[in-house]
Amino acid sequence: MMRAVNPTLDYPILQLLQKCKSFTMLKQVHAQMITTGLILHTYPISRILLVSSSLSPLSYTLAILSRAPNPSIFLHNTLISRLAQSNLVKAALSLYDEILADPDLRPNNHTYPSLFKAFAAHQWFKHGQALHAHVLKFIYPLHDNFVQASLLNFYSRCGRVDIARYFFDQIMEPDLATWNSILSAYARSSGVSFSADPHLLDENTSSSLEVLNLFGRMQRSLVEPSEVTLVTLITACAELGALSLGIWAHVYIIKNTLSLNHYIGTALITLYTNSGCLGFARQLFYQLPHTDIFCFNAMIRGLAVHGRGREALDLFETMNQEGLAPDDVTMLAVMCACSHVGLVDEGRRYFELMTSFYGLEPKIEHYGCLVDLLGRAGLVKEAEERILTMPMKPNAVLWRSLLGAARVHGNLETGEVALKNLVELEPETSGSYVLLSNMYSFVEKWDDAKRVRQLMKEQGLEKAPGSSLVEVDGAMHEFLAGDRSHPRARDVYLKLEEMNAKLQEHGHRARTREVLFDIEEEEKEGALSYHSERLAIAFALVATDSCTPVRIIKNLRVCVDCHSSTKLLSLIYGREIIVRDRTRFHHFHNGSCSCLDYW
Ligand code: ZN
Ligand code: ZN
Repeated sequence: MMRAVNPTLDYPILQLLQKCKSFTMLKQVHAQMITTGLILHTYPISRILLVSSSLSPLSYTLAILSRAPNPSIFLHNTLISRLAQSNLVKAALSLYDEILADPDLRPNNHTYPSLFKAFAAHQWFKHGQALHAHVLKFIYPLHDNFVQASLLNFYSRCGRVDIARYFFDQIMEPDLATWNSILSAYARSSGVSFSADPHLLDENTSSSLEVLNLFGRMQRSLVEPSEVTLVTLITACAELGALSLGIWAHVYIIKNTLSLNHYIGTALITLYTNSGCLGFARQLFYQLPHTDIFCFNAMIRGLAVHGRGREALDLFETMNQEGLAPDDVTMLAVMCACSHVGLVDEGRRYFELMTSFYGLEPKIEHYGCLVDLLGRAGLVKEAEERILTMPMKPNAVLWRSLLGAARVHGNLETGEVALKNLVELEPETSGSYVLLSNMYSFVEKWDDAKRVRQLMKEQGLEKAPGSSLVEVDGAMHEFLAGDRSHPRARDVYLKLEEMNAKLQEHGHRARTREVLFDIEEEEKEGALSYHSERLAIAFALVATDSCTPVRIIKNLRVCVDCHSSTKLLSLIYGREIIVRDRTRFHHFHNGSCSCLDYW
């Protein structure tokens, strides 16, 4: 673009142009450029276009361009890029239209990047797709890193990770910005940590695994990660419970004196709380030079999901004292804290305070939390009442939560109401049928239980396969229920036999009656000891030394039998076992669990 040898660069008028501070000054310089004839040359015109676009009315700038003796594509590109940057995207687009209408002009590889960037910022997906078609038409062959990188970034920001990946794979030597684009594409596509839908959780897991894979490649390509890269990496580690790699990133930040800003701080707090290292998270939280609402939210949520309800509420008070106003995420964490430890009155009170004191409109998630809180405490009718009177249409999560509460507290009538609504909303998922069947079997209505099962079979409903991830020596290992594909499967199954023998010695009896129907999510009936988390625990016991806590991530809810076995295993083997299931954390230690057997 800019040629250093261009003699016109040294013109005093051009230096004067750079110093212009107002439209009036600009007009004076413009006049001189006209009298000296400088305005007839491309480079001076490009300079005045740039300065004019920030000082003059748009019409003035456009007039300069239209009066240029040879309005080249270079001049158009210069102005398009400036307009797009200044958020005058529509003006930039009509200038682009002028190029298309002019037989002497043809868009080139400098025409598009600024437009894609602007579309990405506005999430104008359709516009971007249309422009992509133009790229294919006008730029051939498309071996231009500049354009490809801008397409990559556009699709990444619009959440289209598949297309972003397509462009990434064509870029020969990706630079830092390109790496960050593709990494954050995957990170964005795994936004939800706790989801009621196990399939969604699986998708999140695969996206996060891809962030780890790509990061490995990035390191081999010797491109140094930036803060942005590390936030993405740590967030993926948090999602997967990949603690060692997350700690590596933390150490990298310290060693390379990168700034421990609140983005990185929040990501690390989430990593440590998600991996069951509440102590680390707490320590880091108090070390952060600057804590904003995101750090507080992450820490309060971390305490809440670990069943430290009181501590979470104390921290919330601290936050208030520091003058930070809570947002809806904070309030969700606060209510979740109340819910996990059964603080019913506090939970109700915070829910009311949201509107009356903090001026926040409760979202469906807050209602979900309230219903969960009431349901856990056995206030099944009140929970139902809340759902029926809420201002928005209840979703499947709410009904499922009510159904769960009705099952635990043996409230058949409410259970059936919940089920009816649930099946209407999600006729294709199996979980609700299984829950109802469990409920009938719990009150020994075997025929009804069977009927529901039959119905489910007739509808051809499939259960999501159970899967557990465990990190050993920095690598993630995945086990499915009854899985024998792991290279060390022999050792795992030997260990499993030993575990079962020890469990029996300690008086554990498989809880057949409930269990028969609380296969809930995992298929293999009569094969409880092959549930995925048991395999993962067995592997961790074989492959790690005796003082390492075992950290597992499971895509489904932990079943009753696995829960009581894992409690006992934590005692027998003297190991901390931390299981993150579909909805919460179980921190097993010395024969008991942080959820206090309520999950
Ligand atoms: Zn199980
Ligand atoms: Zn538990």
